[in-house]
Amino acid sequence: MEQKSRGRFIVFEGIDGAGKTTQIELLEKRLKEQGRRVFRTAEPTESVTGGMLRDALAGISKRTACEMAALFTLDRIFHNVNPVHGIEKMLADGIDVICDRYYYSTLAYQGSEIRGDWAFDMNLNCPEIRRPDVCLFLDLTPEQSMERISKGRVTQEIYETHEKLEQVRRKFYSVFERLDEEEHIVIVDASKSIDEIAEEIYLIVNTLGIR
Ligand code: ADP
Ligand code: MG
Repeated sequence: MEQKSRGRFIVFEGIDGAGKTTQIELLEKRLKEQGRRVFRTAEPTESVTGGMLRDALAGISKRTACEMAALFTLDRIFHNVNPVHGIEKMLADGIDVICDRYYYSTLAYQGSEIRGDWAFDMNLNCPEIRRPDVCLFLDLTPEQSMERISKGRVTQEIYETHEKLEQVRRKFYSVFERLDEEEHIVIVDASKSIDEIAEEIYLIVNTLGIR
């Protein structure tokens, strides 16, 4: 019997307003037009842990950086292994998984507040956290990001100050440098037009083999 091919695991990263939701929708549409099955997902997930994270992000409950990193990592393990609609299950069924934020965000946001390698090790050395086939980083300056956010939204999350976003962006870069040898990470200029970015991403995704 022919073995079913595994789906591709595609992660989108970038600070708020970078265009992740916009591009994920466009990629999903194009992949489906190709006849592929697609599962769209995001972190934090809808788990109990995800709810705790959302409360903390909204400033409703206060958490330390280590608490946040640990909760995000726990939520990510659940995201991978949950037998009903976990990432592993979907990929095994031949479905492409498109994920809005992953461990790179933990390493950039919480990692910039925690000294040492603890958050990095916890995520990169965890046997139940899969490395994606590609990470597409939509790169935008904090100025551009905040301008886009302010147009569309009333509430602000705890990380959305200019200074913090600048720090997070630098940390994203240092994480990517560190992972450069072992992962497929593409930095996309997110200041371009929506269509230009969509085309660039589509070409990158189509170079990913179907295993
Ligand atoms: P994210 O999910 O990364 O926070 P969104 O996709 O929600 O970003 O986009 C934030 C805002 O910026 C939305 O109003 C969206 O329409 C707009 N936007 C997205 N991509 C672009 C782009 N390339 N150029 C200009 N505006 C954009
Ligand atoms: Mg979004």
